Amino acid sequence: MADKIKCACDECICMVDTNNAFEKDGQYYCDESCSNGHIDHVGCGHEGCGCH
Ligand SMILES: [Zn+2]
Ligand SMILES: [Zn+2]
Ligand SMILES: [Zn+2]
Repeated sequence: MADKIKCACDECICMVDTNNAFEKDGQYYCDESCSNGHIDHVGCGHEGCGCH
């Protein structure tokens, strides 16, 4: 059974499947850009999400 949790990025509203997420330091992110703290100021690109 897949577990869905909110992306660990504070600004991000996306839900991520832990089996299919970008993991960093034990936290799960929806996208590589979230996992690196948006160091390059690129958003995750998911619809309705304004994190960047
Ligand atoms: Zn997002
Ligand atoms: Zn995210
Ligand atoms: Zn994010």
